[in-house]
Amino acid sequence: MDDTASVSKPVRRVVIAGGGTAGWMAAAALSRTLGKVLDITLVESEEIGTVGVGEATIPTMITFHRLLDINEQEFMAATGATIKLGIKFEGWRDVGQDYIHSFGTTGKDHWTAGFQHFWLKGRARGLARDYGDYCLELRAAEENRFAHLPRGGMNYAFHLDAGLYAKFLRRFSEGFGTKRVEGKIASVDTSADGDIAALVMEDGTRVEGDLFIDCTGFRSLLLGQTLGVEFEDWSHWLFADSALAVQTESVKPAIPYTRSMAGTAGWQWRIPLQHRVGNGIVYSSRFMEREAAREALVGGLEAPPLFEPRLLRFTPGQRKVTWKRNCVALGLASGFLEPLESTNIHLVSRNLTRLLQSFPHVIRQVDIDEYNAQTETEMTHIRDFVILHYYVTNRRDTPFWRACAEMEIPATLRHRIELFRQTGRVFRVPNELFAENSWIQVMLGQGITPQQHHPVADLMEDPELSRFLGGIHGHVEQTVAKLPLHADYLKTYCPQARPVAA
Ligand SMILES: Cc1cc2nc3c(=O)[nH]c(=O)nc-3n(C[C@H](O)[C@H](O)[C@H](O)COP(=O)(O)OP(=O)(O)OC[C@H]3O[C@@H](n4cnc5c(N)ncnc54)[C@H](O)[C@@H]3O)c2cc1C
Repeated sequence: MDDTASVSKPVRRVVIAGGGTAGWMAAAALSRTLGKVLDITLVESEEIGTVGVGEATIPTMITFHRLLDINEQEFMAATGATIKLGIKFEGWRDVGQDYIHSFGTTGKDHWTAGFQHFWLKGRARGLARDYGDYCLELRAAEENRFAHLPRGGMNYAFHLDAGLYAKFLRRFSEGFGTKRVEGKIASVDTSADGDIAALVMEDGTRVEGDLFIDCTGFRSLLLGQTLGVEFEDWSHWLFADSALAVQTESVKPAIPYTRSMAGTAGWQWRIPLQHRVGNGIVYSSRFMEREAAREALVGGLEAPPLFEPRLLRFTPGQRKVTWKRNCVALGLASGFLEPLESTNIHLVSRNLTRLLQSFPHVIRQVDIDEYNAQTETEMTHIRDFVILHYYVTNRRDTPFWRACAEMEIPATLRHRIELFRQTGRVFRVPNELFAENSWIQVMLGQGITPQQHHPVADLMEDPELSRFLGGIHGHVEQTVAKLPLHADYLKTYCPQARPVAA
C-alpha cells in the first residue's frame, strides 16, 4: 500500500478526535466557517481529560478570534483572561540579569536599516537608553499598565484559563452545529486503501468520517499510532522533557506579562489570570530529579499550591508530516517543542487557517504536500528561535547550562546569530512567526552585542541622533503615563463571569 491519499471521496463528514484546546479550536473554526456544508463531530473523553496547561498566547490569537467573529470582551470574561504584552526572561542571560521580549515594535526603522542600528550607534556614543525604553508595549508591561489604543496602538495577547477556554469554544461550536460524542475511543478502523474509516468507541459505536482531525494530545492516536507517522525527536537541541504544573490563588494584581524564570536545569513560568495564577517548572530530567524540580517550583510560589503539582512528560519534536491521507493532526498530536515562547496554541490556529484555506472537496496529495511543506518550514523557524534562548547565554553555572552552550545548533540558527553578531542585521523569511524585533530583543537580551551598525546611522551627528532617540522615548513615556493600571482596566473591560450561587 502506498502512502499517498486516495482522491475519490468527497469530504462531507469531519470527525475531530479530542476535546482539548486543539480539538475545540478546530471545531470552532470549522463549524463557524464551513458548518453549513459539513457535518462536524467531536469526540472526547472526560475520563481521560486534557493536559489542562497552555495558558499563555501570542498576538496571532486576536486574528484567529477576528476570523471567527469571537467577541473579545466575552471571551476574556469567560476565560478569566488577562493581557499579555510579552515575556520577562529572568536570569536567562546570566543569573540576576533580566530582559523583556515584548510584542511591540521598538523605535523607528529607516528603509535601509532597522532601528537597532541607530540605537547601536547611540549606545556607542553614550546617547541611548536601554533598547526596551523605545518600545511602548515593553514599558507598559514594566509599569503594569494597559488600555486598548486607537488604530491598534498596542500589540497584545492573552493569558487564559485553558479549561474555561475549551468550554467557551464548545458552546460556540455547538452553536454552529458541531455534535459532541462523549466516550473513549477504543480503536481506529482503517479501510482497505489505508485511509481512516471510523473511530470505534468503547461501547462499540462507530464514528465514521471522510476527514479526521487528530487532536488526541501526546497520544497521537490517529496520525501517530494508526497511520504510523514517525516522530522527529529534537531533544538534542531542546533538553527539557518534563514539566510540573500547579495553580495558586492570586495574591497580587495581575501583571500584563508572563514571567519566565531560568533555573538550574530549565525554567519556571508564572501566568497571572483574573481568578488565579498558573505556575510550572519545565526541566530536563537528565539534569534534574523530579523531587528537586518539585521543591524548586513549590519553594518559589507566591501562595500555597491549590493541589499537588502535576507531572507532564514530553519529547520535544514533531511528526514527520502532520497531514497524512485523510488525517490532519493539530496541537500536541502533531508535536510539541516546549512552552518557552507560548507557540503551541498559535500553531493550532495557524494550521487551522491553513487547512481552511486549502480545504478539500476531495482530498488530493498536492494539497497535503503543500500543507506539510508550509507547516514544516514554520515549525523549523520557531524551533530555532526557542533554541536561541538556551544556546546564547552567559550562564555556565550548572551542567545544564554548560551543555546548552556546548550543543551543536542547526545551521539555520547559526547563520542568524552570526549575521546579527557581525552586522546587527536580522531578517524575516515569508510566513515566519517571529519578526525582526523579536529576534533583536532576544539576541540582545541573551547577550549578543553586534560588532557594527549600518552606515546610514552615521548620517546623523550626535545632536540629531540624541533628538531622534529622545523623541521616541519621550513619546513612549507620555503614552505609558496616560494608561490605566492593567488590573483596573480588566475590572471594567472584561470582569470575569462568575457562576451565580443557587
Ligand atoms: C507544560 C506545558 C505547558 C504549555 N504551555 C503552553 C503555553 O503557555 N502556551 C501555548 O500555546 N501552549 C502551551 N502548551 C501546549 C498546550 O497545552 C497545548 O498545545 C494545548 O493545550 C492543546 O492540547 P491538545 O488539545 O493538543 O491536547 P490535550 O489537552 O491533551 O487534549 C487531548 C484530547 O484528546 C482526548 N483523548 C485522548 N485520547 C482519547 C481517547 N482514547 N478517547 C477519547 N478521547 C481521547 C482527551 O480526552 C482530550 O480531550 C503547553 C504544554 C505543556 C505540556
